[in-house]
Amino acid sequence: MDFTLSEEQKQLRREIIQFSREYLNDENCMDFFSREMWEEISQLGIHGVIVSEEYGGMNESFLTGAIMIEALGYGCKNNGFVFVVNNHIWVGLNLIYLYGSDLLKEKYLRNMVEGKYIGSIAISEADSGSDAFSMETTAQEKDDCYILNGSKMFISNGSIADVFVVFAKVMVDNLAQITGFVVEKAFDGVKCGQDIEKMGLNSCPMCEVTFNNVKVPKENVLGTVGGGKSLITSALEWERCYEFACHVGAMQRVMEECIRYADERRQFGKAIGENQAVSHKIADMRIKIEMSRLMLYKIACLKDKKRNAYVETSIFKVFVSESYIQVCRDALQIYGAYGYTKEYGIERELRDAIACSIYSGTNEILRNTIYDMSKISVL
Ligand SMILES: Cc1cc2nc3c(=O)[nH]c(=O)nc-3n(C[C@H](O)[C@H](O)[C@H](O)COP(=O)(O)OP(=O)(O)OC[C@H]3O[C@@H](n4cnc5c(N)ncnc54)[C@H](O)[C@@H]3O)c2cc1C
Repeated sequence: MDFTLSEEQKQLRREIIQFSREYLNDENCMDFFSREMWEEISQLGIHGVIVSEEYGGMNESFLTGAIMIEALGYGCKNNGFVFVVNNHIWVGLNLIYLYGSDLLKEKYLRNMVEGKYIGSIAISEADSGSDAFSMETTAQEKDDCYILNGSKMFISNGSIADVFVVFAKVMVDNLAQITGFVVEKAFDGVKCGQDIEKMGLNSCPMCEVTFNNVKVPKENVLGTVGGGKSLITSALEWERCYEFACHVGAMQRVMEECIRYADERRQFGKAIGENQAVSHKIADMRIKIEMSRLMLYKIACLKDKKRNAYVETSIFKVFVSESYIQVCRDALQIYGAYGYTKEYGIERELRDAIACSIYSGTNEILRNTIYDMSKISVL
């Protein structure tokens, strides 16, 4: 695999970084979703990075997509906003692009590429988190519709989304089979709860979404009836790669801030970075970033070759999430009391980072998967 970036990829990366710094770092928008920022980023075209030109996309490779999302995480300090964008692209829009019928693509894709519709994915329920397939939401066939009933929990982008990819159980030959549906918020019976207050990622709203006798047209089935388990598996694979690509960029940004601070802050008559206890923390950050980036580009190349990367994305997700949390923890230590204050943004970065060991499958569940898949020798 050759990870040498082309001039075009380098140029795109520069543009995303410059754009993010100019338009996405408003300190006043760190704790709520900014529609203005959404409109700015929608004009950039990034939502359609891997979508074909037919639907208004950029038709770029998955490697270019990874480079662009990494650059977004590097340039944009507003991790919650980046999370909104990634949820929209990789598990909202992307699932419709990959598995939707022509009719579904016609109905939703162009508007999602242009940012007119915001996407979201609804799998988790109050009583089914890691054990997602035990969900209780149902969809019952009736005439030319399915009648959707149930409630989904912890739905990111919930209150700002226009389109949900929702998973529910449908009875097929007396067996409850998970099926994906594209559900508009505008459909009768869809209701979003209050935004849930959380520890971090505050500019990404999260809520419970309930479905009360919602009539979903049959044409809004995503993929095949009963094919929902493989759609969820696929969605998680995309999430684990691209929703963590931005964290590689975020780690790079935090490391560079630490280098500057360790050089400027003087104690005992010298820069604190001259102490190995400090500089080795930064060296460890660099090691984590390099290993993460290698794995990211490898997965993106596998995707470009249309190869499955389930175990690779699971490993990447665990490694990046734990690295990112440790990088932020070490950054806070390097900044001392200043890091503990709100002013420097390091404590916010740590609060944002902690979520990534939970979403997209907890690290414990992923270690179970990695262990199971390691029983088959790859050599
Ligand atoms: C910021 C954030 C955004 C989210 N966004 C979305 C979204 O947009 N859409 C959506 O559908 N969901 C979303 N979720 C929900 C997320 O997918 C779930 O939180 C996750 O699947 C874990 O479920 P749970 O929180 O109910 O934990 P539980 O499944 O109750 O697990 C609790 C603890 O037990 C451990 N555990 C459970 N079973 C095992 C086991 N077999 N072996 C070892 N350990 C185990 C877990 O690892 C965890 O530490 C989001 C969550 C967060 C934090």
